[in-house]
Amino acid sequence: MTSIAVYPGSFDPITKGHEDIAERACDIFDTVIVAVACNQAKTGFFPVKQRIELVQKSVGHWPKVQVASFNGLTVEYARSVGAKAIIRGLRALSDFEYECSMSQMNRTLEPELQTVFLMAGLDYQFLSSRMVREVSRLGGCVHSLVSPHVQDALSDYWRTAKSPNKA
Ligand code: ADP
Repeated sequence: MTSIAVYPGSFDPITKGHEDIAERACDIFDTVIVAVACNQAKTGFFPVKQRIELVQKSVGHWPKVQVASFNGLTVEYARSVGAKAIIRGLRALSDFEYECSMSQMNRTLEPELQTVFLMAGLDYQFLSSRMVREVSRLGGCVHSLVSPHVQDALSDYWRTAKSPNKA
């Protein structure tokens, strides 16, 4: 039987830290579905469609990876695709409390579904999508933090944002 895992997140945008987690999850599971969460209560930076395209370009061509998006509860989405685990990345200090409570809640909702935590790579411990957005907004170089197509998307965004034609 093939083992399926869902790696859910905002991926706004996908960073090298996310890519590292997805790659290592592929060492454990037969199929890893990188799933962009469409949270109506939270306005994203990039539209969901663009986030999915960026994820697709980063990891969609890997043999074990599928890229998807979902609405609602992660556990329900995971059940709908027959996943036996949710993958989450854990950075040294910042993620523990939130991830702990989230995994506990998911376990309450769906006891059969396991959450598998992978420690962030050493180079990516302090890397977040928010940080990447902020550095790129201020004109900093993010090439070691994101793939080139993500860097291009960020540059395009800020170029248009600064354009006098933008409402
Ligand atoms: P969410 O809004 O669900 O936290 P994110 O896109 O911020 O979405 O993160 C998705 C998952 O990837 C989370 O488990 C997060 O801890 C993990 N993650 C984010 N950045 C990194 C990183 N630099 N290294 C490893 N894991 C990361």
